[in-house]
Amino acid sequence: MQTIVQQQKAWFKEGHTKSYSFRKEQLLTMKKMLSTFEKPILEALKFDLSKSEYEAYASEIAFLKSEIDHHLKQLKSWMEPQKVKAPLTHTGSKNFIMKEPYGTVLIIAPWNYPVQLALAPVIGAVAAGNTVIIKPSELTPTVSWVLKKMIEQYFPPAFIAVVEGDKEVTQELLDQPLDYIFFTGSVPVGRIIMEKAAKRLIPVTLELGGKSPAIVHKDASIDLAAKRIVWGKFTNAGQTCIAPDYLYVHHEVKAELMKSLQAYIQEFYSSNPLNNEEYTRIVNKAHFDRVAAYLDSGTIVSGGAVNERNQKIEPTILDQVSWQDPVMQEEIFGPILPILTYDSLEEVTGQITEKPKPLALYYFGESEEDQQEILSSISFGGGCINDTLYHIINPHLPFGGVGESGIGSYHGQASFDTFSHSKSITKQTTKFDQSFRYPGSSLGLSIMKRIFG
Ligand code: NAD
Repeated sequence: MQTIVQQQKAWFKEGHTKSYSFRKEQLLTMKKMLSTFEKPILEALKFDLSKSEYEAYASEIAFLKSEIDHHLKQLKSWMEPQKVKAPLTHTGSKNFIMKEPYGTVLIIAPWNYPVQLALAPVIGAVAAGNTVIIKPSELTPTVSWVLKKMIEQYFPPAFIAVVEGDKEVTQELLDQPLDYIFFTGSVPVGRIIMEKAAKRLIPVTLELGGKSPAIVHKDASIDLAAKRIVWGKFTNAGQTCIAPDYLYVHHEVKAELMKSLQAYIQEFYSSNPLNNEEYTRIVNKAHFDRVAAYLDSGTIVSGGAVNERNQKIEPTILDQVSWQDPVMQEEIFGPILPILTYDSLEEVTGQITEKPKPLALYYFGESEEDQQEILSSISFGGGCINDTLYHIINPHLPFGGVGESGIGSYHGQASFDTFSHSKSITKQTTKFDQSFRYPGSSLGLSIMKRIFG
């Protein structure tokens, strides 16, 4: 581990990663790597999580390829020094911001989208000219192994390396003299990462989780809301950081919404999801037990069956739930959707703003005024009006949390910026020298007073 970090730091110092042509070449190589390894990636995702080929391709491989394409299209302009204006005091000088790579970056990934969440930050880190160490999740070991194999085949370890292992390995990595840490995972582990990074003053990005609400107001297009919520919630069996964690529905439209939710669950996942090969399983026994225990909260309206053998839990809707129930105490991260009912939007904003700031929020309703009210009164990472998850696949939208749901953001230019230090430069003229700043200048004080008022 120490050797890899030392090698990468030396390689970075030699300047290999700095040029536009090198970065572009590496992004093209990554795209080629994803095509060559498409089959092993899909098979590993099937093996570790029972992900369907469609879901795996769309949410992992296609996502990464589109992110690479976006970087390839924009990289040259992102790398250009950015000219800025200057005050009168700087007459004669040129002022600009240079984007420079940090050096050696550690990327720590979770298991739920184990390819996408390991490699999407790598795209930004490489585009910004860094060397990279990837620590995949140990809970998806087949994917972790495939990641290691493919990176080894395409990149020298002094540039990109995969270090496999659990929390002990991660802790050891965190003791190395890294230049940047990019972490995706849970809130409690995020705290540990930040504490470790603080010891060496290493900058961090924390992409965390939490309870993200969906709100369905009485003027929403109910059937469409149900369809988009079912898709956002039960994709990957609810193991999505930005999945709607729970649902707030206005009491006037509750019955209609519940009916549509159940109809779409059946349409998307069949009447027997537990035996549906296309339906993702829960990652391991510990998480299966944790999520299954939430079935004791409230009343089961639909779903509720589990299969311990294949670790699947039916898409489930829970009614009669309160904030005191265990299912409302922490992020569910599984295919269970608790429903809370409300009378007024003030009630909803009041409740949500008492809790930690969510990573995502989804509001369904037609009134622009109400949409604006929600957006301006609740702080959250990002989200959608009348949809779920879709904001994450627009490369022009930075993705990240706020408060307990995370620090910093990435995707598209936000990735490039995250992995670049903004170096501010004043390039001074030598053709003349304004004397008013120097001690003893007779006009200095009066000029300053004229400039600054
Ligand atoms: P996790 O925090 O348990 O693990 C994430 C990574 O940290 C893994 O690589 C793991 O090996 C490592 N790790 C675990 N314990 C550690 C410790 N004590 N010290 C150092 N490293 C440690 O998260 P997870 O279970 O893999 O993922 C689920 C969580 O991630 C959920 O909370 C979810 O919301 C969040 N998440 C967030 C995003 C996002 O983009 N914001 C995306 C996916 C998942």
